[in-house]
Amino acid sequence: MNSIIQQFNNSNKILVATHAHPDGDAIGSLIALGLSLEALNKKITLYCESPIPAVYRFLPEVHRVVKKIGGLNYDMAVILDCGDLSRVGEAVSFVKQIPVIVNIDHHITNTRFGHLQLIDTSACATAEIVYRLIKQMGLPFNKPVATSIYTGILADTGSFRFSNTNKAAFAICQEMMEIGVDPHNIARHVYGTYSLSRIKLLNLALDSIELSKNGKLSIMTLTKEMFDETHTQPEDVDGLINYAKRIEDVEVAALIQEHHNGKEKSRTPNRFHVSLRSDGAVDVAAIASLFGGGGHSSAAGFSIESTLSNIKSRIFSLADKIQLKT
Ligand code: 5GP
Ligand code: MN
Repeated sequence: MNSIIQQFNNSNKILVATHAHPDGDAIGSLIALGLSLEALNKKITLYCESPIPAVYRFLPEVHRVVKKIGGLNYDMAVILDCGDLSRVGEAVSFVKQIPVIVNIDHHITNTRFGHLQLIDTSACATAEIVYRLIKQMGLPFNKPVATSIYTGILADTGSFRFSNTNKAAFAICQEMMEIGVDPHNIARHVYGTYSLSRIKLLNLALDSIELSKNGKLSIMTLTKEMFDETHTQPEDVDGLINYAKRIEDVEVAALIQEHHNGKEKSRTPNRFHVSLRSDGAVDVAAIASLFGGGGHSSAAGFSIESTLSNIKSRIFSLADKIQLKT
């Protein structure tokens, strides 16, 4: 941690980036660290290639997150909440040219990319690690930073319900509340309202659920047509997979999401993102790794180019092999 802080002190232009299709932890960590480094008078760019999901647009300074980078000669890049560098998206080749890359993450499958790493797989969220880093730098937590840290932890622990919920989650959130964070207000934004479009997408998503023969695996499917019909975007998908996971006896839930890449025919190979969830009893990070992806033991994912029917049959074929962790 100290070599990272030293590197901050020696740098002036710093790129702070997180993964495409961001969640609350990605954006919360990005803003908390970005604002803290700015307090050290550094020139900061906050980067995420995808749109910010509507439920996180209340976060302080969120409008400063840019979708394009280039030009500036950065002294260093800090990559947050990414198990591997390619998770930042199209900017990966630009980022690779930055002289110092710092990898701050909590994914079990982290590839340890970059020149300096701060990886703690026992952290409930990247926001927990960012909190510790800001503490170690001796910087104060003002309300915008505290709001971002709190939101990151709230989102990644599923409101203190998921198996990654640890003592630090409660301790840090209590401390952030003492600084002025309003839990009710944050929950109102993150869980309070859905657009009508998103409700319509939820309807199609629920209708798409299929179960494996042994009932242990569920698949929810979202096609391009469903997004078009409901006027929704990939960022509206956040959280829908939990419905597939909640079904009685289901150990593993998969959500197959077709990417908007312009190809029309459903029989031609297309790009899909597959999200996997378990209740902690099955290691889905290990399953995602088989397909070139990664994540946590209870939440993981991968991208794949194939046909929908092929992906479904490959996922269903896993159902008989589902093994509970001992
Ligand atoms: P989601 O299903 O929400 O996209 O992702 C669940 C978890 O798996 C997240 O922690 C995310 O970072 C990780 N994940 C999702 N897709 C990929 C992927 O393609 N590669 C890797 N390494 N991790 C992924
Ligand atoms: Mn995270």
